[in-house]
Amino acid sequence: MTIWNLGSINADMVYDLPHLPAPGETLAAHGLDRFLGGKGANMSVAAARAGSRVSHIGAVGHDGRWAKDRLTEYGVDTRYISEVDLPTGHAIIAVDAEGENLIILYPGANHALDVSHLGQALSSASTGDLLILQNETNAQVEAAQFGRKLGLTVCYAAAPFQAQAVQAVLPYLDFLILNEIEAEQLRQETGMGAADLPVRHVIVTLGAKGARYLQQGNDPVEFSAHKVQAVDTTGAGDTFTGYVLAGMDRGMPMEQAILQANRAAALMVTRHGTADVIPDLREVRDATFD
Ligand code: ATP
Repeated sequence: MTIWNLGSINADMVYDLPHLPAPGETLAAHGLDRFLGGKGANMSVAAARAGSRVSHIGAVGHDGRWAKDRLTEYGVDTRYISEVDLPTGHAIIAVDAEGENLIILYPGANHALDVSHLGQALSSASTGDLLILQNETNAQVEAAQFGRKLGLTVCYAAAPFQAQAVQAVLPYLDFLILNEIEAEQLRQETGMGAADLPVRHVIVTLGAKGARYLQQGNDPVEFSAHKVQAVDTTGAGDTFTGYVLAGMDRGMPMEQAILQANRAAALMVTRHGTADVIPDLREVRDATFD
């Protein structure tokens, strides 16, 4: 089976600065690193590293061919990533000597996906395939509707969080994943707690505390996180989601998929970086935790 991911692709440009700039200040950076990022790209890489066949649906600008090439190198099918006349989505991340940061996000090509292109990509999907969406692209509702019509398992990662975006896709979802803060925001803004959602599978990730699985009609099941020395939690959620999807794709019971995702995300927080350092299945299986 295939995991179809309508997802963002970003260039994370990390500038090393002596201090964060004040209004009107011009400041020379000591260095610049460019990484592949974006929730969508991270999830595609995680699911591919976990052994699944992943087709990424998205858009980059003419400046983003390297990102597409990088995804291909990581084993992701990039045939449905189109090139549009807008810059590739990017994050300008300024980091000072103390590690404090300032981020400017530009969605660019991630919001310029042609709906007909989406339809064309999904016309190659088969009943039973998975479709994952996040809140960093346009065409989320159209994708969820197509997915439901085609008999795909429709999954949504509710980040960056917007209650309205969740509500718009909710009627089409089989699986929703969100973190504890997002679950609380959803409850406050819509009155719906995670346990009340009309979705068959809901996972609430709890950071260093682990994750909670809510299957409609059943009691919640808690999973403790592994005890590790966390150095960088960026991408932990995306790694977790990619591994859960890969488990579902392989027909694992959800509990088993979560156990694997918990191991992958624990390893991920011991590493600096995002897509480039997501662990593969062998590393996840071989890891030993206290
Ligand atoms: P992010 O936005 O930082 O990628 P998130 O907020 O979407 O993450 P979290 O709930 O913070 O998601 O973390 C996702 C999963 O990562 C957790 O369910 C857990 O399995 C793992 N994890 C996160 N932090 C830690 C930690 N300090 N130690 C062990 N595992 C962790």
